[in-house]
Parts: sequence; C-alpha cells; structure tokens
Amino acid sequence: MDQATSNADIDRVVVTAPEIQARIAELAVLVEKDYADKNLLVIGILKGAVMTMADFVRQLNIHVEMDWMAVTSYGSGTKSSGVVRILKDLDRDITGRNVLIVEDIVDTGLTLSWLKSNLQSRGTNSVEILTMLRKPEAAKVDVQVKYVGFDIPNEFVVGYGLDYNEKYRNLDYIGILAKHIYS
Ligand code: IMP
Repeated sequence: MDQATSNADIDRVVVTAPEIQARIAELAVLVEKDYADKNLLVIGILKGAVMTMADFVRQLNIHVEMDWMAVTSYGSGTKSSGVVRILKDLDRDITGRNVLIVEDIVDTGLTLSWLKSNLQSRGTNSVEILTMLRKPEAAKVDVQVKYVGFDIPNEFVVGYGLDYNEKYRNLDYIGILAKHIYS
C-alpha cells in the first residue's frame, strides 16, 4: 500500500520508503562488520518488525540465523501498558549465542528492556538491539540500543510493520496517523 492510497488517514509522512531502504543498507554494513564470524542469531519481534527484519537480513552479506518472538506491550490503544507477556517464544536454545534483537520502534523502552534481560538470562554471549524507530521517551530508560534507523518525534506512527488496530502495517513508508482515526 503506498502513499497515494492511504493519504486520508495519514497526517504527515515521517520516513519515506526510499529513506527506509537507504538506512537499512547503512545499518547492514555496520552489523556485518560487528558480527563477521560471530554466528549471528537475529531475533525479530512479531508482528511489527517483520518488514524491517525481511529487508535488513537481505542486505546482510554474512551468514545469519533467524528466529522470532511475539510479545504483548500495547493493547488496542496508543499508550504503552508496561506489561510484557510472551505470546510466542524462540524455537531454540540460545546459550552462548550472539543475539541481535530486531524491533520496529522503541517508545518507553519497557518492552525491550524486559526482553533484553530475558534473553540475557538464557546464557547468551551477547544481546544487542536494532530498531527502525526510536521516540524521545526511550532516552529516559536504561536500555542501550546499538543500531537505530531514525529518531522520530513523540507522535503515534504507523506503516512499515507498525499498526493501529492491526491496520496500516502494509504501508511501505512511516507516517503520523491522523488524530480523527483514533479520537
Ligand atoms: P515500548 O515498550 O513503549 O517501547 O513500546 C514498544 C512497542 O509499542 C512497539 O513494539 C510497538 O508495538 C508499540 N508502539 C510504540 N509506539 C508506537 C507507535 O507510534 N505506533 C505503533 N506502535 C507503537
């Protein structure tokens, strides 16, 4: 779904499709350097990180393994609940592995902070985070995010995997959802 099709529901485009792809290519170069010969395990967080994960791993010129987790943080609203629950766990034991979590967005950072320590407690060698988007609130939480696509304003955004009530994930860009949609 592209910009022309979704215009009425989107107030402003924050990151265009070409900008997303260019940034992913830059991040892939950094990750390749950091993880050469490290047998990287990339863990995508469902469902929001599907697009980032798919585009990112295809830019990587090193061997990687992929796994997925699903956790809840938001309900159907636009505010973080702070409650994290595992809906789908990893398929494998990750003892001794170098793990890179791929996430769509860090807002309060509560989800990632919890997730990172959860994965560290499984005996991993290292756990780092890559996120496509980061909101200003994230700076207040003690969670280190090694690779960031874009820092964005504190607005509710959709597209490129991010949803509002399960819609808009299929936009190929990221935009601010018009307030009339959720108020
Ligand atoms: P956090 O725990 O507050 O960092 O929330 C992280 C999760 O909340 C993300 O993985 C998203 O699922 C969701 N989220 C946070 N901000 C937005 C947004 O602007 N649009 C859509 N989902 C969001």
